[in-house]
Amino acid sequence: MYYPFSWFKHLSRLAGFILLAVLIGLWVDHLATTLAIATLILLLSNYWQIYRLNRWLWHSKRMTPPKTKGLWEHIYEGIYYLQRRNRNKRKELGALLRRFREGSEALPDAAVVVDANAAIVWCNRLARIELGLRWPDDAGRRIDNLLRHPQFIEFFHSGDFDHPIEIPSPSGSQKIFEYRMMPYGDKHVLLIARDVTRLTQLEQMRKDFVANVSHELRTPLTVLNGYLELMPTADDMPPAFREKAFNEMGEQARRMQSLVEQLLILSRIEASAERVYEKVVDVPTVLATIASEANSLNKEKQHTLTYDIDESLRVYGIETELRSAFSNLLFNAIHYTPAPGNIHIIWRQEKGCAYFAVEDDGEGIAEKHLNRLTERFYRVDKARSRKTGGSGLGLAIVKHVLNHHNSALEIQSQVGEGSRFSFRFAPDLTVKSVARKAEKS
Ligand code: ADP
Repeated sequence: MYYPFSWFKHLSRLAGFILLAVLIGLWVDHLATTLAIATLILLLSNYWQIYRLNRWLWHSKRMTPPKTKGLWEHIYEGIYYLQRRNRNKRKELGALLRRFREGSEALPDAAVVVDANAAIVWCNRLARIELGLRWPDDAGRRIDNLLRHPQFIEFFHSGDFDHPIEIPSPSGSQKIFEYRMMPYGDKHVLLIARDVTRLTQLEQMRKDFVANVSHELRTPLTVLNGYLELMPTADDMPPAFREKAFNEMGEQARRMQSLVEQLLILSRIEASAERVYEKVVDVPTVLATIASEANSLNKEKQHTLTYDIDESLRVYGIETELRSAFSNLLFNAIHYTPAPGNIHIIWRQEKGCAYFAVEDDGEGIAEKHLNRLTERFYRVDKARSRKTGGSGLGLAIVKHVLNHHNSALEIQSQVGEGSRFSFRFAPDLTVKSVARKAEKS
């Protein structure tokens, strides 16, 4: 219980004590001795209180002060009050620190705090995982002894932290990290490392893509320009040359048109927000249309095309996209199989999934190419693909379509024996209609 301090009360108590001692001294006729004894009692009682205070401060686990009265009670209460205030402050600071640490742990980036001597003060969980730091073992160790990439060391010691740097992950993985340094407070530096692998890959892809498209367009444009430059001067152009020139120019113009169309299809599929689960696609009917297009494409080569189609099997999906995937695979087989070949088209149900495959007995593809076939503009044989009017985008389109339908293209191929391009739709996209089967039979 807190009482306001009163000098008057304490001094009157002291005066009362001294007066009592004087009275006793006068009464026993030994004033000096009595006063000396009273002073000794006063001194001893104060020593006793100092001893209790010392024991409470240093040896007692109790927070509450020992019980006493008078001036000492006030001193104990004061100390107790200060202790409580400090304890609350400590608690608040602890909670603040905990919240800061929790917030930093939730950061999507690796964060490390280093002091003026480059020693690690603290690091978050991602810094341990991505930068390979150990906590608390690495606390106090120099950061430039642990992150040894020369570019990082140069950046760290340059003191110029205006621009971030990008360097490979120190853990030896394929990741690329962007390092940013932010000096703050008492010569401390906050290091933030962000995984930018995807961004760098996208940037590289964008550069490759622009380079590839320009390259693809340059060849037909060069041919067209060449003929156009010849035209005005060639008044007496032989009819055979004229015909060749027009044929060639037409072919190159068609090539550019097909390239642009394929690019548009690809970008439409990439940007498509259409939902796969909304409409059922009548795949057998789509395949029937593609089959008649395939027949006209096959006029020259006269391959034998055989179909194994389950007429009752349909899927949820986006018709235009699926049509593009089916036709790319079938037309590729017709283009790349030497005449006369055998091409087999399958659309059936397997283990609850809808399964599509195009098999041919063409020349096959060497294994080293298989993983790269779905990359944009990748061709096994550039000259041959150009001859067939190929843009190198067909399988990239198929890959994107299948991705959109939660599926993936499987390519099996043996050089000299042929290839099989196949994919399957998950059971929840597959629709088996009994009525349709009955109606057809
Ligand atoms: P393109 O437009 O050049 O045909 P694609 O992306 O459709 O491009 O195909 C990529 C490459 O894969 C082709 O250039 C070709 O070399 C190879 N390819 C595709 N299908 C077949 C197949 N059925 N048989 C052999 N090679 C094929």
